[in-house]
Amino acid sequence: MASSERAPTKVIIVGCGVAGPVLACFLKFKGYTPVVYERIVRDSEGGLSLMLQANGLRVLALIPGLLDQLPGVVEDHMEFCSTVPGHEDQLGVYTYKTSSDTARINMEDLINIPGIGIRRHDFLHLLSETALQAGVEIHYERKVVDVHQHADSVEVKFEDGTTDTASFVIGCDGIHSNTRVSLFGKEEASYTGLTQLGGFSPAPKSWKHKNTMINFFGEESHMISYQVGPNLNSWAITRREAEHKETWRAVDDSMLQELRKRDPVSEWGFGAGELLQTAHKMIKYGLYDRPELKTWYKGRVVLLGDAAHPTSPHLGQGANQALEDIYHLVRVLMKYNPSAGDPSTEVLKNAFEEYEDIRLPRTSALVKQAHEVGDKMRVISGVDACLARNESVRATWANPEIGLRNLARARSGPFEGKSEI
Ligand SMILES: Cc1cc2nc3c(=O)[nH]c(=O)nc-3n(C[C@H](O)[C@H](O)[C@H](O)COP(=O)(O)OP(=O)(O)OC[C@H]3O[C@@H](n4cnc5c(N)ncnc54)[C@H](O)[C@@H]3O)c2cc1C
Repeated sequence: MASSERAPTKVIIVGCGVAGPVLACFLKFKGYTPVVYERIVRDSEGGLSLMLQANGLRVLALIPGLLDQLPGVVEDHMEFCSTVPGHEDQLGVYTYKTSSDTARINMEDLINIPGIGIRRHDFLHLLSETALQAGVEIHYERKVVDVHQHADSVEVKFEDGTTDTASFVIGCDGIHSNTRVSLFGKEEASYTGLTQLGGFSPAPKSWKHKNTMINFFGEESHMISYQVGPNLNSWAITRREAEHKETWRAVDDSMLQELRKRDPVSEWGFGAGELLQTAHKMIKYGLYDRPELKTWYKGRVVLLGDAAHPTSPHLGQGANQALEDIYHLVRVLMKYNPSAGDPSTEVLKNAFEEYEDIRLPRTSALVKQAHEVGDKMRVISGVDACLARNESVRATWANPEIGLRNLARARSGPFEGKSEI
């Protein structure tokens, strides 16, 4: 077939979470035919919320019109409180002057605001809708169980025994990635010793500033809350506890009532207790580490997002790093395969190698940093250690430039100025 009549190159994307539909949009724009397979039904209610930060938002801004439709809340205010018994105090506060209207978000604002708080369900709905409108095929309730490589194609096998074939495959199938297992074998997840209890609640009545990201530093526990909708806050409490399964399922109603009344955080001040007492949904999950991969690809299959670099959530960078991955993977595919034709394994090797050379060191550093924030800032034992931590938070936010500089480290990617994709 002459190149002008060439059939578009089919790419299978495994997973339609955050990364899958965004990657599919970019590949479609660049001339590929992405086909997305997702294990569960469309619009499932799993999980709670995400904080989109400057780096992730920069990538989303490259999809025309997407930022204007984000059903989230621009957080322009941060507060830091101590809930250590006998030492309750406000440790810091910072307000950035920006519009609270996501439709008018200014790109310069992005680095200086906590981000956009958004319900995961609403975000995923928008992303899949955007991909469908761009002409991407998405198949729900198709669980990929295995991946077989041939000389110039990859066959993907589904739970129901059927298969599909494409030129190459990108595993965006998250923390329990079967694509990763197919490439590198099964591995043990190790429990970090920390759990999170998260929920949705109305904003506490006493709060004057609603678009707030607020951190409560207690003894042996930490709580973060941010607004995700009109009078809707999403929060998560981290603490050291016995192992708890890693699911994103909501607790049942009797457990919800029990936690609202008896969880020690329900006694906390500054509105934290009220968040717990008024919650209408809660989920609880253990936080796990996985061995760090030394490479993210094999032959014609590559990993992206949580499938490549699962992280504990303490920097709020899971979704944002997945979006950075997309930017660089699409950029290197354009560099080594500018025609979007059917690439040789050698061409893919060049692209995948450059992608992981850029991304692996950065995500590895952030995974370590997130782990440390959990262990050394958020969940610490002993009043003296807690008070030292509180003083460090107070000193940082006494000069907001220091605090913002710290935050900017994670959020400064994936490009400055003009995008290359
Ligand atoms: C149900 C759920 C709820 C979550 N809730 C939160 C939350 O409240 N807060 C937070 O910070 N992070 C949450 N996360 C994690 C967060 O979404 C990711 O860290 C981040 O968005 C990275 O994006 P990703 O696309 O790599 O992974 P994900 O967004 O996790 O997407 C992976 C997708 O792959 C699908 N999938 C998995 N296995 C297969 C398979 N074998 N075949 C086909 N499809 C498959 C999954 O169903 C999922 O839709 C949640 C993840 C999940 C799966």
